[in-house]
Amino acid sequence: MKIVGVEAIELEMPFSRGVSSEREVGFLNWGMLDFCLVRVETDTGLVGWGDAFAFQCRKPVAEAVRHMVAPRVLGRDARDVAGISHDLQQSLHLFGRYGITMFAISGLDIALWDLAAKSAGQPLHRLLGADGSRRVPAYSSLFRYEDPELVADRVTRSIELGYRSVKLHETRCAEVAAAREAAGPGVPLMLDVNCPWTPAEAARMAAELAGYDLLWLEEPINPPEDFPALARLHGSCGIAIAAGENACTAFEFRAMLEHRAVDYAQPSVTKVGGITEFRKVATLCETRATQIMPHSPYFGPGFLATLHLAQALPSPGMIERIFLEPEASLYPEGMHDPVDGTFGVPGEAGLGPDPDPDVITEYRVG
Ligand SMILES: [Mg+2]
Repeated sequence: MKIVGVEAIELEMPFSRGVSSEREVGFLNWGMLDFCLVRVETDTGLVGWGDAFAFQCRKPVAEAVRHMVAPRVLGRDARDVAGISHDLQQSLHLFGRYGITMFAISGLDIALWDLAAKSAGQPLHRLLGADGSRRVPAYSSLFRYEDPELVADRVTRSIELGYRSVKLHETRCAEVAAAREAAGPGVPLMLDVNCPWTPAEAARMAAELAGYDLLWLEEPINPPEDFPALARLHGSCGIAIAAGENACTAFEFRAMLEHRAVDYAQPSVTKVGGITEFRKVATLCETRATQIMPHSPYFGPGFLATLHLAQALPSPGMIERIFLEPEASLYPEGMHDPVDGTFGVPGEAGLGPDPDPDVITEYRVG
């Protein structure tokens, strides 16, 4: 099954940000939802679909797929997924073991796993050793609103929609307090601040946040790879720490776990190195008794890949569903919507349905 074509397909899709307001603030001020789909064609006629992380970096990631990844894999046997992952990581190491290069490698890897499962005639989770019968809890991952009333409104709406846990992207206590009041005492709330603070600032803020019964505090410290600082906070603040969306490869997760920096590890399949690398991270976490909580604010093959991977984890954690509504869906309606607060997994061969060609045509920009 020779690889005869690798295409990066760029989409820009408008989206709605919530249920009652179009206001948006802060670094989550995305204008459009970016996609970099990776389409891999083989000489058997089978086509695989991958997904490289592209939010606010779509063009460079697509160029990396076209000019760094594609020339290295054309003519290779698509079944050699592990070998291709290894060779790409080795030959591209000088261009960065975190960031654009790894995002591009991730997109290719997801497409190869889609092909592997399609050629076996099985849904991907079967190849990963799971029967696909699990329902995995979803959590609502809110945007940043910097407005206590809006935050409370969206927390309430999330719970009405069946979510049993809600994650905030705020950095101030007023919004967290509003969320806790709206949710009531029994609903798990998480807080993702996206690396804004020095270690000292993080310690001060963690003390202020201690009264809100957070399930975890996510990425409190900048830079994200300062694992010793994260470990000191983790050991002293009394709130569980989550991180990992900004870590690529199992080696960076090994460093994170060796420092005992987190309670929850958050590999992101479109960034970490794809399904191949995610599985290595999962094994590491299992040996260190660290719970995985996949980072998955996606609407393409990366989301489907996360659903399959969760089926095969010893403890699947929760699936992140970013609380926005794209103008169109690459997949049949409802695929991104949890049922009774949980996600199942597609049963078709491969990742699931292929992306809708009409939607690709409509939103394609490169
Ligand atoms: Mg996050």
